[in-house]
Amino acid sequence: LPAISLERISKTYRSGGEAVAAVRELDLRVEKGEFFSLLGPSGCGKTTTMRVIAGFEDPTTGTVRLHGDDVTQVPPHRRDVNMVFQSYALFPHMTVFDNVAFGLRRKGVAREELNRRVGEALELVELAGRGRTRPGRLSGGQQQRVALARALVNRPSALLLDEPLGALDLKLRQAMQIELKRIQRDVGITFVYVTHDQGEALTMSDRIAVMNEGRVEQLGTPAEVYEHPATRFTAGFIGTSNLLSGEVADTGGGVTAIEVAGAGRVLAAGGAQAGGFPAGVRVDVTVRPEKVAIARAEPRGDLVRLRGTVTEVVYLGSATHYTVKLGNGAEIVVFQQNSSDAVGAAERGDTVWVSWRPEHSS
Ligand code: ADP
Ligand code: MG
Repeated sequence: LPAISLERISKTYRSGGEAVAAVRELDLRVEKGEFFSLLGPSGCGKTTTMRVIAGFEDPTTGTVRLHGDDVTQVPPHRRDVNMVFQSYALFPHMTVFDNVAFGLRRKGVAREELNRRVGEALELVELAGRGRTRPGRLSGGQQQRVALARALVNRPSALLLDEPLGALDLKLRQAMQIELKRIQRDVGITFVYVTHDQGEALTMSDRIAVMNEGRVEQLGTPAEVYEHPATRFTAGFIGTSNLLSGEVADTGGGVTAIEVAGAGRVLAAGGAQAGGFPAGVRVDVTVRPEKVAIARAEPRGDLVRLRGTVTEVVYLGSATHYTVKLGNGAEIVVFQQNSSDAVGAAERGDTVWVSWRPEHSS
């Protein structure tokens, strides 16, 4: 049974006579022990989804299950999940130890067990020596780790983390991403992680649900959503992506041929859009900039190849980024690694070929 499952969850807020549909018929299954991320722009319904799982919010329709049990009507404190917020909400007048011990004391856990469990939790977040310190004397990253220890000490079967690193600066955030992933692996509990930062989601997650306007746009491993974005939204939201619009000319053998007016014919073989489109239908084709090669001479082999003019060259040391304008006015961005044989492939104003393997477009 999945650790968490949401079945047709909708949540509509009423504010000042107006209805806001924050989550729309959402279906999600999070497996046990998984690092699962909800990724999407601000306002797409991530926090609402988490609050519904935790029980702080009643869904307008739908069912929440934890390990198969229907908990839709169960109050938050009786659900086997804990939530960690961006604002750590530590008690400033209490020591780190007492902050972490707070929940256990309220539950009446005996002193010996309490000491042991708080000690273990602090060790896990690498704050073993800091029990007597007050939160105000710790850095932002350390405070976030105290908040994490306070949630872990309850041994929930799932931890819900809502943009927990949002308040930290970039360097600390990156260090904490690795740290959080390590902790999750060590304790083996299910993490549901909310972020609007695609890099963060790609680095940490086993699977990602890309959300947009209260719905899941795509669900998959980091490599799946990055390599084969299923929708225009996902392609645009995760990484940099080239987008071409055209008309399906031919479908067969898992490959779709798309006629891009004024630019040429493009074959797409990867991802959800491969195959299954009747001729004549308008579709979008995406390809990642690092999958595209650029050359002055026409490339050989079984490749998608289009002709264009270089309009921009940005040299970045280890890589060069080119912008190539096609015959129909569309632009293709190319990221080229500057290995010794690739440097100076083209200059502004050059007429070039851009090419890629059909399985790299979807
Ligand atoms: P996210 O966490 O992805 O930024 P939220 O779940 O916080 O998104 O919000 C989704 C939508 O619901 C937004 O349009 C937001 O303005 C609205 N919303 C969230 N909470 C409330 C509330 N308590 N009352 C009214 N509207 C809300
Ligand atoms: Mg939010």
